[in-house]
Formats: sequence, structure tokens, C-alpha cells
Amino acid sequence: MSLIEDFLTQFGFSQELIEGVFAKPGATMPAIFLAGGYNVNEYYKMTGVPAYEIVRNARHLIKSQMNLQYKFKVDLLTCLVDLNIMSESFGAKLYYDHDVLPMPNKPAIESLDDIDQLEIPDPHKDGRMPVIIEAAKLYKEKYKAKSSLIYGGYIEGPITASSNILGVENFMRGLVTNPDLIHKLLDKVTTALIEFGNAQLEAGADAIGIAEPTASSTCISPDFFKEFAFPYLKKINRKLNTPGTLIHICGHTQPIIKQWIKIPNTFIISVDEVDLTKTLETIGNKFIIVAGNISPITLLRETPETIELITKDIINEVGNHGKFVLCPGCDLAPGTPEENIMAFLNAGRKYGKFPI
Ligand SMILES: [Zn+2]
Repeated sequence: MSLIEDFLTQFGFSQELIEGVFAKPGATMPAIFLAGGYNVNEYYKMTGVPAYEIVRNARHLIKSQMNLQYKFKVDLLTCLVDLNIMSESFGAKLYYDHDVLPMPNKPAIESLDDIDQLEIPDPHKDGRMPVIIEAAKLYKEKYKAKSSLIYGGYIEGPITASSNILGVENFMRGLVTNPDLIHKLLDKVTTALIEFGNAQLEAGADAIGIAEPTASSTCISPDFFKEFAFPYLKKINRKLNTPGTLIHICGHTQPIIKQWIKIPNTFIISVDEVDLTKTLETIGNKFIIVAGNISPITLLRETPETIELITKDIINEVGNHGKFVLCPGCDLAPGTPEENIMAFLNAGRKYGKFPI
């Protein structure tokens, strides 16, 4: 077994998945999901348990995630809920709804001058962090032995979490007007994110995904990525007690791929709006898996026939390159028709047999 296969086995990759990652003849191109909002909404529709209760109750939360796995038989599940976990733990207020994930309502601080008021939260006590940790524990105790999936815990990326703590507008302004204080904030938040990620790993998560959409080139320039995102993502990946992470950055990311793949211990990049051929070329011989990049809007709005064609095009574009998994570019939107999700997965099975 090669070192890389050994490394993937450590995460719980099945032999079938490993062969798919290496594009071995007879294997199939793997397909995975990032799904949180979709699961919570589906679980609400199925059980009547409101979304605000699902996201605050580990038992409901893990069931909502596992239902997706039972239904679609995906191999990797990211227990992605919403991207306000860290900001809420720092004191931000959210708006909780009955059918969808909570949304930001009031940031934890109004100004960078208040940064010293921020206390680093305790992952076992503050906000909904204990719920996410408990969900990882329930996965390990109740589901792990019975399923072949890889359960990824998750944390927000430092830019995404910090911008929700300070408010996105204030954060973006601060990048230009007060970079020193922004670094101070990012440093504090990074410490909290590492503790939260390690607590999930300790509780039973097989791996960690980092969701960092606010660091995309849709939101900040590649230079700002270099100064404000890269060093903190690097620190997180080094300090998490896992050999590698999945980093998800949706939106436009072509200008930062080169930097992104230099973040140590990054083993899956989950991409959205990129040119796959260029991205795979940039990665070259490095062992980094690309997950992408069917738009969740396409999955929500298009017909199964169109989705089949788009998925087929992606498979043909990537061909026998390997180190690629089919994946929506972001969290599946609530209400995405089941037949569309099946069209995506079935197209993977139909056209993704190697050699392509
Ligand atoms: Zn996303």
C-alpha cells in the first residue's frame, strides 16, 4: 500500500473510494456532498421538528445528517450546519427560523475598539459548540460501526468566523483601515477554532472540514488572502490533531488556488467557480484532491436531464486524471429536488467508470 493510500485509510476511506481517487480501471469517480441546510430542512419537513430545535439538539442534528446518507448513499458526510457557530459562541446574536438554518442578526462586537472584550469561548460550554461535539460523539457511538461513511466535523475558517463576529462590513473596512487589530481578532478566533476542531476530533469525527467562503476572491483580494487568510489557515491545519483537512471556499477562487494548495496538510479543496482543467494543472503532482464543482443553483433549478449533461461534461473534462471527486460547489440548497440530486449521483455512476 502506498503512503497516500495508507493516509486515506486512516480517514476511513474505503478501498472503493481510494481506487476512485486514483482513477484505477474499473473504479468509479467518487461523488460526495456538503450538506447542512438541505438536511435540516428535509428533516424538518419529515418530522415537523423545527430547524431551531434541530440545530440545538445533537440527537436531531446527527439524525438529519444520517438520513441524507441513508437516502443517497454518499461516502463522505460533512456535519456542516451553519457558519455562525463560532460568532455565536463569541456572543453574536442569530435569527432562528422554523424551516431553515439560523442567520446572523447582531455581531458580537460593533467595533474593533471592543476587541479586548472578546473572551475565547470554551468548546464544551459556549454557544452551540457542545451540540456539534455531542453530534460527533453520537456518530462514533451509534453509527460509525454500522456505516462505511467518513464523518467530517467542521469549523468555520478564520475570515468567515471573524467577519461574523465583527459584522461583515466592519470587518471588510478593517482590513484596509486597521489591519493590526484585524490580525489581533483573527489570532483570537484561530485559537478558538483550533480548540473547537480538536474537540470534535476527540469526540469522534473522522476528519475536519473548514468552511471559509468569505476568503474567496468574490469577497477579498488575493493579496488580502495572502495576508489575512493564509497564515491562520496554515496555523489551524498545523494545530488540528489530524493529518489533513478539507477546505471549502465557494465563490470565485481561481486567483487563490496557488496559495490555497500551499496551506500545509490540505488534502481536499472543495471548489465552486473554477476552471477544473487549470486547477488540476496548478496542483500538478501534489497529492491534493479537488472536489467540485456543480453549482448548487443548477441542482436546485435545472431539470434532471440538464444536470446529467453538466455532470457528464465535468467527468469528461477531468477524465482519467484522478485526485478528483464530484461534489456540489457549496452546501445543497434547501428544497433541492431529490430527482436532481439522484441525476447528479447517477450520472457519476453512469459516466464516471474508469477509464473514461
Ligand atoms: Zn460554500
